[in-house]
Parts: sequence; structure tokens; C-alpha cells
Amino acid sequence: MERDALESSIEWILSSKKTLVLTGPEISAESGLPDFSDPEFNPPISNFRSSREVRAKYWKSLRSAYHLLANAAPNPAHEALAELGMMGYVHSLFTQATDGLHQRAGTLDVIELHSSIQWIICTSCGKDARTDDIMSVLEKGAEVPACEACGKDLLKPGISFPGQPPPHWEIREAWMQLHGCELFLIAGASLDVQPGASLPAVAHEQGAKIVIISERESLADDYAHAVIYGKPSQVLPHILGKIKERIELN
Ligand SMILES: [Zn+2]
Repeated sequence: MERDALESSIEWILSSKKTLVLTGPEISAESGLPDFSDPEFNPPISNFRSSREVRAKYWKSLRSAYHLLANAAPNPAHEALAELGMMGYVHSLFTQATDGLHQRAGTLDVIELHSSIQWIICTSCGKDARTDDIMSVLEKGAEVPACEACGKDLLKPGISFPGQPPPHWEIREAWMQLHGCELFLIAGASLDVQPGASLPAVAHEQGAKIVIISERESLADDYAHAVIYGKPSQVLPHILGKIKERIELN
């Protein structure tokens, strides 16, 4: 961990009046989860709707990954962010993750930029269902689950597949919240996937300090005020610990 970047980030978290957080697949991966924004889980919507074979392949992939999700637990990165939130240092958290682990860790205000893998919607009649219930249907041998209401087998998670508009409310909310943001803390997000990819530039225009915590380099590193290369599950608890020390000293 770079000492200056780390020290500066701690100062900014302590002094910022409005800190927003963006997280993504690196944090999910540390809980043993696959990247649900991977093409395997995101077939183009036109292919998905027109081909039963594409749908069967999709449900097979999702079923094996969902098994991991059912057994996954929040990791120290989720927990540190939840605790920073409870201490009043996080205004809201945007995430590219669809797995619900931030909520399970106790973060209250989560904006899911890619919606959630935990809900399924019928693209024919709009009826929704819990993914858990659809998984039970698949366990019983169905290759492609059908809608309980209309009987068509055009169910999918609320996640936007290529060719579908991204979740409208969430993106609008993220943009609105960036207004007046003083610190934008990006941890384990994928900055080449929209809509998250455009958010650092918006925060930058708002005059926010930008801190990136990631094992990987990204295009946004060039204009970030601090980049900490490391695992979010190690860096975030470290930051939390330092903040607690500082509070106790004062
Ligand atoms: Zn239906």
C-alpha cells in the first residue's frame, strides 16, 4: 500500500461532508463469486428472446453460479464499508455487484447500478419472482423455467442484457447523488463497464476528490487524486482501523 495515498485517503474520509462509494466485481470475487457482468451471464437480449438454446445455456450457467452465491458471505471489504457507513462516513454506496452482499453486510443505502441477480422478471408479462424459487424449478429438471402467470419461458433477472437499456432509476439516482459529492471512493469496481465507468468523470467535474482502491490499473487512475493498489478486503479494513485510531486519539 502506498503510504501517501493511504494517508491522504484517510484524511479525506475524515473531512469529507459527502462521500460516495462505488464498488464492483473485485469485491464480489473476494467472496468467491463470479463476475455476473461477464458475457456468460449476459447474452444479447435478441438472442436470448429468440433462441431457447441460448436460454437453456444461460440458465445452466446461472444455476451453477447461483449455488456459489447461496453459500457466499460478505468479506472484510463489505464489512468495513458497512461499518464506515454506520459511523457516518458514507453517504451512499453504488455497486456494480448484483449479489446483495453489501446489504447482507449491513450497508443500508445501496444503489445497484446493474440491478439484482436475486429477482427474476418475465419479459413477456412483467411478473416477478424470487431467483431462489426459480432455482428450485431448475433443480426439478426444467432446462428453461416458465412464468407462473403467463406460461412463457422468457424469464430473466432484472440485470440489463446487451441491447437492453440500463436500469433507469438507479443511474438517475447515482447522477443526482454525485451533486455536491466531496469524495468518491472507488473500491474494486470495473471502470470499463457502463454506467459505472462514466461516474468518476462526473465526480471529477463536481470537484470531488477521487480515490481508487484496486488490484488493477484503470483509465481513471490518471485523474484520481489517490490510487491504492491492493485487495479491497485488505485495504478497506486497514483504513477503517486507522480511522478508529484517529477518532480515539481526538
Ligand atoms: Zn409472464
